[in-house]
Amino acid sequence: MKKISLVVPMYYEEKVVNECYKRLTDVLKKLENYDYEIIFINDGSKDKTLDLLQEIANKDKKIKVISFSRNFGHQCAVEAGLNYVSGDAIVIIDADLQDPPESIPEMVKLWEEGNKVVYGKRKTRKGESAFKLFTAKMFYKTLNSLSDVDIPKDTGDFRLVDRDVVEVLKSLPEHNKFLRGLWSWVGFKQTPYEYEREERFAGETKYPLKKMLKLAFDGIIGFSTKPLKFIGTLGLFSIFVSFLIMIYTIVSFVASRNLVTGWASIMVAVTFFAGVQLVSIYILSEYIGRIYAESQNRPRYIIEKKINFEEEN
Ligand code: UDP
Ligand code: MG
Repeated sequence: MKKISLVVPMYYEEKVVNECYKRLTDVLKKLENYDYEIIFINDGSKDKTLDLLQEIANKDKKIKVISFSRNFGHQCAVEAGLNYVSGDAIVIIDADLQDPPESIPEMVKLWEEGNKVVYGKRKTRKGESAFKLFTAKMFYKTLNSLSDVDIPKDTGDFRLVDRDVVEVLKSLPEHNKFLRGLWSWVGFKQTPYEYEREERFAGETKYPLKKMLKLAFDGIIGFSTKPLKFIGTLGLFSIFVSFLIMIYTIVSFVASRNLVTGWASIMVAVTFFAGVQLVSIYILSEYIGRIYAESQNRPRYIIEKKINFEEEN
């Protein structure tokens, strides 16, 4: 019997846990020809999320729980889940029920038709601020214009992926995995599944602007070397400008024979080139910082506790 694994990250979701478990289980039970497991990842919430998950896991052995020692972020939570799945198809779904679990059977059908990745594409997004919609749009626009792979827009993390794809992803040596980009990058047969994004079941978004910006930055630096190439362009441009300044200086020197006028052009040149260098160093440092982080080889997350994993060491 084929098995479906669900990966559900949770951060301060005590209001959502029980309803989420119920809705997901209802859907999965209806998929009679499939076995299933649900892996909940508690991303360091300090509310009742873990207690509630523990209660559920005590009663239902199909429920597995991974609990982080602190908040490592949504991407890390999903990654941890992927590292422990045992199913043939894996569905990544938000805990807040914004992605309707009822679409899972349809996604499974598309998977059975031979698609290795079925990515949820939002037709509409209910209950989200104009600001969020605008920033999300800008994010995908910038990312796609900068990066080398095509990342479908209006697509979040909600998707079904074949186990093979998950194995490829797990085998990538890079530490700072930008999953949304990597799903496209890996290739394989992919198809969108259109759905209506619902309002949050309860609680509020755990993705403030700061986290969104970090995600955007991860995507751009992780999937593009264009900022690095930008240094080259900037260098050329600065040579061009310095050439103009040189001509100006020579002409004004010859015309007026007044040496003091040179002071202005020197100042312009000095400040301009200092600026160029600073910008360049800034961009370089961004990459060097990442090389540094990779070379440290720190774990991406630390698991404090695992529930219902006994039989698989
Ligand atoms: N989440 C997480 N760690 C975080 C932030 C969010 O595990 O640091 C989870 C959260 O519990 C939810 C999912 O990631 O299941 C998506 O978060 P949210 O619904 O707050 O984001 P939004 O839908 O507003 O983009
Ligand atoms: Mg949400």
